[in-house]
Amino acid sequence: MMIEVGKKFGRLIVRAREGSAYRCDCSCGRQAIFTEDDLPTVKSCGCIVILGLDLATNCGWAVRYSWRSPAAIKCGVFSVGENNAGEDMEWEEKYALAGNQVYRLIKEHNPDFVVIEQPEHSIRRYGRSGKGGVDRAAVQAFIGRLSAILFKYGLGSPQAAQAVSSIAGGSNNSNQMQLAGIAGAAIAACIISGAPYGTIGARSWHSLAYRDGTKPGEGEDWKDVAIRQCELEKIPLPSTKKDKRDAAEAVFISGCWVKCNLPNIKWMRDRWMALRTNAYAAKAKREGIAA
Ligand SMILES: [Zn+2]
Repeated sequence: MMIEVGKKFGRLIVRAREGSAYRCDCSCGRQAIFTEDDLPTVKSCGCIVILGLDLATNCGWAVRYSWRSPAAIKCGVFSVGENNAGEDMEWEEKYALAGNQVYRLIKEHNPDFVVIEQPEHSIRRYGRSGKGGVDRAAVQAFIGRLSAILFKYGLGSPQAAQAVSSIAGGSNNSNQMQLAGIAGAAIAACIISGAPYGTIGARSWHSLAYRDGTKPGEGEDWKDVAIRQCELEKIPLPSTKKDKRDAAEAVFISGCWVKCNLPNIKWMRDRWMALRTNAYAAKAKREGIAA
């Protein structure tokens, strides 16, 4: 079957048939020649685009290009906390907004891989009841009822009830609990778009990104460290301090894609391995790349 000139495969556009293969322009500015069998899987000349996501109510994103300097990294933020009218969103709506925003980012920047900071799973860990162990859910339910009764008779406050329930093993940090939902929506957007993804824990990427041991100074947090590093590498950040804080971490998350934890999904693992080993660039070279 012939492939039509002008057809797109990821960042490649087919320009001409050459023998039994096709010469393509890649959006990175290079050309590559691939066979008809290769084209549906390669998606680029071998260049790699990585999208990094620092998910929260205010999400940071960054797009990194393998063939450009760090100064060419694009980054920004999007919020899932409120709608266009400035009204607060419910949990479920935040997830939907996150999925939609990540889907748009993938469509716009066409990443080969998406890196997401791993949300904490502490809630699930506490909620499990082992054999012979305490059933945390039952304890929580009991304490919840007890607090409600005490409150009814003027013997407690909502704050006290929350404190008691958090001692019982639940977490009342609802922002933290929402992270898993926001990440799930982002992952769904990756799967729908055919973009492989991986996750990386905050501690892991901090030690990878700041190899010189840079740590937050007096009155600083990790976001301040990320801003400082971006300024050192001349990476353009958004203009406001708040947006800078959310975007800067995404820049360094995107740089850690090689060390990600991958989901157990075969096509994603295959694609990630091909990206890591630069298999597509090697293939293009074998088949006659004009670099
Ligand atoms: Zn390319």
